[in-house]
Amino acid sequence: MSEQHSSTEPTREPDETTQHSSTDDRPTPLTGEHLPQLRATLADASHLLVCLDFDGTLAPIVDDPDAAAPTAANETAVASLAAAKPVTTAIVSGRGLNDVRTRVDEPRIYAGNHGLELAWDGALAMHPAARERAARVEAVCETLETVLEPIPNARVENKRLTGTVHVRTVPAGARPVVRRLTRSVVERLGGDDLELSPGKRILEIGPDVDWGKGDAVSLISSELPAETVPIYIGDDVTDESAFRAVAPDGIGIRVGDDEPSAASYRVDSPDDVAGVLEWLGAAGVSLVTEGSATYPDQSDARHDDDQRFERGPKRWSVSMANE
Ligand SMILES: [Mg+2]
Repeated sequence: MSEQHSSTEPTREPDETTQHSSTDDRPTPLTGEHLPQLRATLADASHLLVCLDFDGTLAPIVDDPDAAAPTAANETAVASLAAAKPVTTAIVSGRGLNDVRTRVDEPRIYAGNHGLELAWDGALAMHPAARERAARVEAVCETLETVLEPIPNARVENKRLTGTVHVRTVPAGARPVVRRLTRSVVERLGGDDLELSPGKRILEIGPDVDWGKGDAVSLISSELPAETVPIYIGDDVTDESAFRAVAPDGIGIRVGDDEPSAASYRVDSPDDVAGVLEWLGAAGVSLVTEGSATYPDQSDARHDDDQRFERGPKRWSVSMANE
C-alpha cells in the first residue's frame, strides 16, 4: 500500500485523485517494431520472471468484481508460460490471496493484497504489520458497511489485510459522498495505522506501511538466478512501484491509456496482453533457453533454486518485518 498518488482512470472525478509523481514519462505503445529491443533484453537471460496483475490486465474490468475472469487467450498463455521451464510466473494483485488464486490457478507464485501476502506453492508469508492491523481493517469495513448502506451499489469488501470500497456502479453524484464518508471512517478508526488510497473506481484501505507490489516483485526476483529478466504487466496506480522495481534490467508494460507511467511500454487492453504473453511463451522462452545453453548444469541449478525457494517464506517475513 505504498502508492498514494494518482488514479489512472480517464473518467474519474477531479477529487478522485492527486497528481502523478512522474513528469511526462509516457510509455511507448508496444508494436512489432520493438521486438528487436525485447529480444536484446532477453538474449542474455537464463530465466524469466513474468509478474502479472489480475484485474484490468489478465481480466477485463467488469462492474461486478466477483465476476472478473481472465480472457480465454490469457488463461491459455499463462498456463503455457507457467509450464515453461525457464520461466517463473507470479500473479501480483490487490485482491486477497485466496481470492486471486481461485481465478487463475497455474502460476507458482501469488502476491495478494498488493504484495502484503505471498505464496509459493504451499508456503505462505504475510507482512507482520499488516497482520497486526487486520483487526482494524475489519472494524473499518464493518463500520463502512453500515455507513454506506443507504448509498446504491456502494460495496465494501474485507480482504483481511486490506479492504476495498467499490464505487464503479455507484451513481456518479453519490461517489463524492462515498469518498468523504470512507475517508472519515478510516481517519476515525484507523488513526495512524491505516491509510486510504485511490484506484480505478475503488478506494483501498490498508496498513500504512512502506510496502507495495514493487517490494513483492523485488523480493521474488531476489530468490531467482542472477541472470533473470523480470517482466511486469499491470494497469493501475499500485502497479507503478512494480514498474519501477523491474525498470533497471527488465520490462514494464502498462495496460491502458496514454498516461504517464514508470512502465517502458504500453498496450491497450487485456486482449493485447495475451499477444505479449504468447510472444514470451514462444520467442521469449526460446531466447532464454538459448541463453542458458552455456550453463550445462541447468537442471542442477533449478534444483538448487527450488531448495532456495523452500526457505523463501521465512526470509520473506524477515524482509517484510525490516521495512
Ligand atoms: Mg489491475
